[in-house]
Amino acid sequence: MKCALVTGGSRGIGRSVCYKIAAMGYYVIVNYKTNETEANTTLGAIKEKGGDGETLQFDVGSKEQVQAMLGNWIEKNTDKYIEVLVNNAGIKDDGLMMWMKDEQWESVIRTSLDGFFYVTRLVLNGMLLKRYGRIVNVVSLSGLKGLPGQTNYSAAKAGVIGATKALAQEVAKRGVTVNAVAPGFIKTDMTEGLDENELKAMIPVKRFGLPEEVAHAVGFLVSPEAGYITAEVINVNGGLYS
Ligand code: NAP
Repeated sequence: MKCALVTGGSRGIGRSVCYKIAAMGYYVIVNYKTNETEANTTLGAIKEKGGDGETLQFDVGSKEQVQAMLGNWIEKNTDKYIEVLVNNAGIKDDGLMMWMKDEQWESVIRTSLDGFFYVTRLVLNGMLLKRYGRIVNVVSLSGLKGLPGQTNYSAAKAGVIGATKALAQEVAKRGVTVNAVAPGFIKTDMTEGLDENELKAMIPVKRFGLPEEVAHAVGFLVSPEAGYITAEVINVNGGLYS
């Protein structure tokens, strides 16, 4: 069975990615950290449209939880292998560096950068054995350009971009591609507190993006036809920066 794992699939961009990948025929593992109700909503919508999947709770930034929950899933499901991985889980906790607390720095790095490492390391083995895999990391404009008030978030996302390019070269000959998608301002819970009316003035497309528009780019990168695209970062930011 064709199987995909989307981290942070309970809400926002991750939820749209789950829908997209389910529509491509994948059995989708919808990961979440705490929001079981929303994860079940994502799964319910997939099933309503004739797709299939399951929810799987773990904190991507916890080595122990990733090993226990995802490791256990892989061990138990020998009939399935995860051929598509979308590392989407992420948080922000903004503040000027001068006043940034250890916890703000550590939690943001742990979720995006450590999370990428713990989850990908586990899933990679199956892809290498089967000689096929698609990995897409959801990064950010912030990791390319750097945004003031986001030294923690910019560092985490820039770190994932570097890891994307390095890993892509390690695994290319085994049929595994590794790419990143870098959204700008997308309408989700993460950007809820931002003033779109004020910020859209600087976006050439003159609006925030939709989660489905990010999911479309992810869907393209995980398609079999995208096999010659690897170590790439696709911007989905309405022309804001490239
Ligand atoms: P969101 O609406 O806040 O959703 C975040 C998702 O990540 C939720 O499903 C959440 O699970 C999950 N999550 C958070 N920490 C986790 C952890 N430690 N382990 C497992 N799951 C975790 O965010 P979003 O806007 O969709 O963002 C998705 C990704 O896009 C993030 O990596 C973000 O940095 C990136 N991004 C977003 C924007 C934007 O404008 N929205 C722009 C650039 C990049 P729960 O529901 O259980 O909390």
